[in-house]
Amino acid sequence: MSYHFNNIDFSTVTERVDLNNIVQSIDPIVYAKTRNYLSGSVTGLSPYFTHGILKPAEVIDELVSNHGGEACAKLYSEFGWREYFQRVWQNKGSDIWNDLKHEQQSIISNQIPKAIREAETGIEVIDHAISELLETGYMHNHARMWLASMITNIGQTDWREPAKWLYYHLLDGDPASNTLSWQWIAGSFSQKKYIANQENLNRFSGSDQSGTFLDVSYEKLAELSVPEVLRERSTLSLINNYPISDTVELESENVLLYSIWNLDSTWKVDSSAERILLIEPSIYDNYPMSDKRWDFILHWAKEIPGLKIYVGELADLLGESYNGKIQYREHPLCNHWQGEELSRNWMFPEVKGYYPSFSKFWKLAQKSKPLKVSC
Ligand SMILES: Cc1cc2nc3c(=O)[nH]c(=O)nc-3n(C[C@H](O)[C@H](O)[C@H](O)COP(=O)(O)OP(=O)(O)OC[C@H]3O[C@@H](n4cnc5c(N)ncnc54)[C@H](O)[C@@H]3O)c2cc1C
Repeated sequence: MSYHFNNIDFSTVTERVDLNNIVQSIDPIVYAKTRNYLSGSVTGLSPYFTHGILKPAEVIDELVSNHGGEACAKLYSEFGWREYFQRVWQNKGSDIWNDLKHEQQSIISNQIPKAIREAETGIEVIDHAISELLETGYMHNHARMWLASMITNIGQTDWREPAKWLYYHLLDGDPASNTLSWQWIAGSFSQKKYIANQENLNRFSGSDQSGTFLDVSYEKLAELSVPEVLRERSTLSLINNYPISDTVELESENVLLYSIWNLDSTWKVDSSAERILLIEPSIYDNYPMSDKRWDFILHWAKEIPGLKIYVGELADLLGESYNGKIQYREHPLCNHWQGEELSRNWMFPEVKGYYPSFSKFWKLAQKSKPLKVSC
């Protein structure tokens, strides 16, 4: 049986893809009907959103003008989830790495099970999704939920190390969407833990596996002791192989400072400022990413004419004498940058605060920018 996700191919991340084609090929009605299925028509947009290559606000406007507001309602709310998590991060800062609402219950280990890293849990769909993640950097949302639930709730593991491991391998790894989704599954940022049994996996993946440790009722699953296959743990070591730095000596009066979260080739296109992508090991040593992810970042950085890459610390880039004008886009990992901070391109610029639940945020968000029905 093949679990290939039919409309997404991230296997060659450095090949040129036509983003306009990707957006034009989205059918929001089919998306809404099929998104929960592993073979469903999901968009594959997340790596481009994560790195600021595409902006959700612009994509949704385009989709609404092509398909009408009603058709886009489901996608709109999914983009809304992304923005919600970004706002939680902006308000809570590094606290997103702490249990936000409740302490995670029933933990026997902080280390990710070895069988997960080796894609040998015996649950075929999950093992396949892990293998595909390691190969392509993508995992379907439902597979992420099953995986996270199996590790935290069935395997009784603290969510932090597995979250780092998943983030490392994902092309779309985003500290907010990642940590807060793990917390949502583990019950520390939600009212209860998320658990899925084999029947649920079979239904949404098209598989028919039976006789596994997940092949029980939800009552039994809630009482399950940690299955033998998930008990063995091993030390996880994740490192960055940073790109090679350009030699940069700031000469221009004006500098546009890019982060890896703002690889927007349309940013201030008419400006003659010097453009520098700053990658600070003091920050990214804490957020290691796979070589495939760095290749993806470099590929899209090269789409920005004249952009130089500086791997080092901001203070070293500026030296003691630079006193020109620096502009950059706001991001929680760039809070220490100096110069003029410009806003990100939010979908709902007025809905800024911390909301303890998505539904509270979403009510205000929809009020601030209702979906337009095209004429
Ligand atoms: C344990 C776990 C970890 C996750 N880690 C990340 C992560 O590091 N980065 C990340 O971008 N998403 C993360 N997600 C959310 C979601 O799985 C991905 O955004 C989605 O699968 C990306 O694929 P897509 O672009 O094809 O999604 P589509 O279904 O096509 O959705 C379109 C866009 O809506 C947004 N979106 C959709 N679902 C969600 C969601 N549940 N939460 C937040 N935004 C959503 C994304 O920006 C996505 O690109 C995680 C979910 C779980 C359960």
